Amino acid sequence: MERLLRLVRGALDVLYPKRAECMGCGSRAGFDRDWLCEACRRELASRWVGAGQPPRGGVIEGAAYGYRYGGPAAGMVRNLKYRGVRLLAEPMGRAMASAFSALQPLEIDGVVPVPMHPKRRRDRGYNHAALLAAQVAGQLDLPLLDVLSRTRDTRQQARLSDAERMSNLENAFALAGEVADKALLLVDDVCTTGATANACAKALLDGGARRVWLLCYAEARNGT
Ligand SMILES: [Zn+2]
Repeated sequence: MERLLRLVRGALDVLYPKRAECMGCGSRAGFDRDWLCEACRRELASRWVGAGQPPRGGVIEGAAYGYRYGGPAAGMVRNLKYRGVRLLAEPMGRAMASAFSALQPLEIDGVVPVPMHPKRRRDRGYNHAALLAAQVAGQLDLPLLDVLSRTRDTRQQARLSDAERMSNLENAFALAGEVADKALLLVDDVCTTGATANACAKALLDGGARRVWLLCYAEARNGT
């Protein structure tokens, strides 16, 4: 009987991931608003960034971030990325749209998600950055321009030095759409070293884009 219960519970976990838990800290006490418990909402608010520094490299014009990475911000990213809670893209995208307003006034012609390698996208079933970009585009009433593709799987990035990351990322992105003379807003979940964002921006600028800004849910760069 117990075994059967365990099986049923396991099946239910697959069908209905435990969404009654706080997406920030995992507390089973659950969440009340925005998928977060009150303590996480308070901590998240204290991590607010808004307008920030673009990654070094001089490729990206300016940047805005929702939150400093960590705590509930990390929980939200993890749940969106690895636990399939796609609905989190809505509150996350809303926060990103607010962060973007710190960069105003800006004329943007379209929102571009950082692409995923096709194999990884197949494995995961969705590109989390594209979900966020779609939310941001909807909130800001801008076209979603899915114009980048990832031609190289750069999965091992985390273990590499900055220089290695950059060379690993060279030519990892290709243009898959028209961007000539457009001012674009590049969207990703987390900005760490900025190497990915810089490589994407470079591909867009090489393709004739006028300028590229960056908007991420969280900023995880050293010293910030
Ligand atoms: Zn919480």
